[in-house]
Amino acid sequence: MEQIIREGLAAMGIPATPDQVRTMAEYGELLLRANETTNLTAIREPDAAARLHFLDSAALVALADFSAGKAVADVGSGAGFPGVPLRVLRPGIRLTCLDSVGKKMDFVRESCAVLGMEDVRCLWGRAEELPQLRESFDVVTSRAVAELHLLAELCLPLAKVGGLFLAMKNPDCDQEAARGDFAVRTMGGRVREIRRYDIPGADVTHAVVVIEKIKPTPPQYPRRWAQIKKKPLLG
Ligand code: SAM
Repeated sequence: MEQIIREGLAAMGIPATPDQVRTMAEYGELLLRANETTNLTAIREPDAAARLHFLDSAALVALADFSAGKAVADVGSGAGFPGVPLRVLRPGIRLTCLDSVGKKMDFVRESCAVLGMEDVRCLWGRAEELPQLRESFDVVTSRAVAELHLLAELCLPLAKVGGLFLAMKNPDCDQEAARGDFAVRTMGGRVREIRRYDIPGADVTHAVVVIEKIKPTPPQYPRRWAQIKKKPLLG
């Protein structure tokens, strides 16, 4: 894993120290080992994990300000993606990983502690049920959690006005972005752009919908998940 991560980051133009590359590879090894007994990820093969978890997550560093002190929330973080690789590459961020499945957050908390990242906050809960976190993050990230017209209501309430929401998507996400536009605007957001990038060696292109939070989310949002699904904001 270490070599693929090192070479991949170099090909993507993302500087990383040997320690950072090693930490990512060690996290990957902890993940694949834990995955033998606990279902944490569908990617079970080390080379694929290096590319599809670590390099894919790392692509976000170029898309937002992850400088020291920035508060970052990774919603539906699962086994820690994209949040943990971002924390490795940008150690000054204040990262909160959040997931509705407790065992996933246990894995992230324990693995981060083993690798000296005790500062990573891991919360077990649903994004739409955490009013104490409202409008408190400079950057919110999310990968493979829900379609944008639903996801916007989970993630944008957590972003500060002036902050960004980076929604990682498949490259053919234009229709999904268009369908999600009303929900994004209702939450106080505005789609700035869709950025596409290649993952070295993986023969796949991924995309990120970059959304700015331009005004506060109205107080009636987010709703409960049952309501979000029953009455999605489709305009
Ligand atoms: N982001 C990780 C990745 O890309 O590897 C995990 C993706 S996994 C397919 C989706 C995750 O989102 C699951 O771990 C699930 O528990 C979590 N999730 C779904 N809805 C959520 C919600 N409303 N709040 C928090 N987590 C949620």
